[in-house]
Order: sequence, then C-alpha cells, then structure tokens
Amino acid sequence: MTASNQDPCAAPEQKLLPVAEARSRILDAVAPIEGDEMLPLRSALGRILAEPVRAGIDVPAFANSAMDGYAVRGADLAADTACAFELIGQAMAGTPFDGSVGPGQAVRIMTGAVIPEGADTVIMQEQVEVDGRRVRIGPGQKAGANVRHAGEDIRAGETVLEAGIRLLPPQLGVIASLGQAEVRVRRRLRVAFFSTGDELVGLGQPLGPGRIYDSNRYTLHAMLTRLGAEVIDLGVIPDSRDAVRMAFADAAAQADAVITSGGVSVGEADYVKETLEAMGEIDFWRIAMKPGKPLAIGRLGAARFFGLPGNPVSVMATFYQFTQPALEKMMGTTPNPPPLLQARVAVPLKKSPGRLEFQRGFMEATANGELHVRPTGGQGSHLMTSMSRANCFIILPAESGGAEAGAMVQIQPFAGLV
Ligand code: AMP
Ligand code: MG
Repeated sequence: MTASNQDPCAAPEQKLLPVAEARSRILDAVAPIEGDEMLPLRSALGRILAEPVRAGIDVPAFANSAMDGYAVRGADLAADTACAFELIGQAMAGTPFDGSVGPGQAVRIMTGAVIPEGADTVIMQEQVEVDGRRVRIGPGQKAGANVRHAGEDIRAGETVLEAGIRLLPPQLGVIASLGQAEVRVRRRLRVAFFSTGDELVGLGQPLGPGRIYDSNRYTLHAMLTRLGAEVIDLGVIPDSRDAVRMAFADAAAQADAVITSGGVSVGEADYVKETLEAMGEIDFWRIAMKPGKPLAIGRLGAARFFGLPGNPVSVMATFYQFTQPALEKMMGTTPNPPPLLQARVAVPLKKSPGRLEFQRGFMEATANGELHVRPTGGQGSHLMTSMSRANCFIILPAESGGAEAGAMVQIQPFAGLV
C-alpha cells in the first residue's frame, strides 16, 4: 500500500481546459445575429456584408488604353522594321474618337480612353516619333499591347464579394466601381460591458486608500469599438448582489452580448454566478492559459455572457483569444485571427510547463529579413505597459519550459487583432 493518496503536499489535480478547446467550445456556443440594414457606401466601412454583391456591369465597361500613346491596328506592325502611320485624331479619357482606324492609321490616345473602332493595340508614346501628322513607330512592338479589355476585372452578373466579409477600403472601392451607392450590411452587434469590483474608481475621481482606477472599461471599449460593435458602457458594478442583478437585467435587455471584467476568480464570483444561474446559465472554466486562467461563459436572457478575468492584461489576452472570435461569428463574419509567425528571440524566456503562455513582445525585421522578438518587460498580468509597448504576443506552448536566447518562437502580431 502506498501513502501517495494521503500525501498532504501532493499537487492538487489540475484540470485545465486547453486554449484551443476553449476557443472551439465558445465558437460552437454562439450563432450569427439576425438583422440587416442598407447603408450608403461611406457609412459601411468596417461593417459585415449581409448579401453577396453582384456586378450589374462589366468593369472596365469598355476596352480602353493602359497607356498614353497611339492606337493602331496590330496587323500593321512589323517585327523588325519601323513603320509610318498617319495621325487621324485623338481619343481622350471620357471623350472617345468618333471614327474608325484603318490600315496605316493611328489615333493619339490617353490612358483610360476608349480604344477606337478598328484599333487593337496601343504603342507607348515613348516608342514613337511624331512629325506633324506622321507617326513613326519603331520595330519590335507587340500586337494587342497596352489594351485593357472590357470585363477584364469584373464580368456583369458575377458575384464580386461574398456575404459575411468585412467591408474595408478595397471592398468599398470595388462596390463603387460597380456604381452601387448603397450596400446591405448586418446590423451592428450590441455589446454591453461593465467592470466589477469595490476597489474601482472612475477616471477623474480621487484615489482613496486601496483603490485603483478602472482601466479595463477603456481597453474593452476600445477593442469593441474597433471590432465594429455598438458599445453599451454600463459603468462599474460594485461587489453586491443587488447591483449585479440590476446591471445584468439592464445589460440582457439591450445587448446581444454582455462582457464583464473581474470577479471570476475562485471564491469571488458568487454574485455573478448566482445571478447568472437565476437568469440564464453559466459555466466556469479554468483555462490552461497565462495570463487569463479563469473565464466564465454563459447566457443572460437572450444575450451571450463573457466573464473575463480582472487583471488588465488578462482581459486583453482573453478578449483576443476567445471573445473576439465569438463576437465576429455573432456579427456574421468568419473569425480571421492574425497569422502565427516564427521569430528569433533575443533573450531567454522563462516559463514553467503547464499553461500556454501569451507573453508580450516587440518584433522587428532585421536587415536580412529575419524576424526578431524580445519581451517587453515584466510579464505579470497586472503590468499593462507590457501590452502597450508590445506589437505581438509571444506564444509559448503549454508543455514548454521556456526558450533559450536565439531560439525560434511562435509570435502572433497584434495587427489584425482589434
Ligand atoms: P478579480 O478578478 O476581480 O479578482 O481582479 C483581479 C485583479 O484585477 C485585481 O487586482 C483587481 O483589482 C484588478 N482589476 C479588476 N477589475 C479591474 C479594472 N476594471 N481595471 C483595472 N484593474 C482591475
Ligand atoms: Mg474583483
């Protein structure tokens, strides 16, 4: 018989949920919201396309010149001798040449002007000598050169943009090129959020003893705004049963998703837990992740609930890894996290095996194009400057025991996170 079961110093059973599993469970638990609206194109920046965009016209709508030069018939060009052409007119962008180009004839043409009837080739003006109405074109020109064909970019009837994409400057440009002044987008996702904690003081107030300023509401507001949500800031909720109940009822009545920070560590979450159990459902997870072990996921009436930890870096790390993809799915788009890259770490990184770590790093490309990364100071989950000085996460696998100086590590650039 062994004494190991009774050993009072034995490590407690650690049952932590792997990050990837937590992410896929959260994604499975949410669904896109219903509702859309028609918006003028300029107001649609950052919004999610609700229906495919179909082209009503060819783009370009007509064959036109890619160069300033001379439009001729390709068949008139000789491979190894210069040829002389007669200049018969000009074609400007917006003002076509009103005639036809015959054998031996050329039309002065500007970029974007309609290719005149009969012509099929444009010779760059740099390759041409002009003397009055005589145009001399050197050898070696290619028939068909410098012509942009009708429908080369987009064919009428074609689906140009699929529903569910986020409208960024290039997509707005494509829609504008089709002449469409309005676009149908998903309605904004309404997200209510608040901070919990008796120690929290609003900005502009004096700090009493043991008090701290509420910074999480500002990072959450910023991340939600950049994500394109309609943000509903419900302030700071004190650690009291009545306050939590009222805030939850208020939030659930107006939002598709509710986010809180703080109050989900062990022994602390009682009001959050009992209120959610009464009004909906809640699941507490301990995730194999650092920072950001505790996370509460649930439902509050019809709204989805995300209870993030209180420490400021944990709020951002858990928001990016779990909440952002879930909210993106609710908004009707496919989560598209920034790619994971490899970088060489300049200094040793400390870590104990057990949890996947999101250390904060600053990456830069060296002269030879290799990415280098270094940690941005102390890695405590209360140290917000580690985040504000960083431009990427350094992701160390759960089983890893750290990295030596010069080792390759995985990084996730912040670009693409909101
Ligand atoms: P909690 O999860 O409520 O135990 O909070 C963990 C840590 O995060 C504590 O040091 C809190 O004081 C801190 N914290 C909680 N909420 C906020 C907030 N809104 N802004 C800044 N720090 C916070
Ligand atoms: Mg607290």
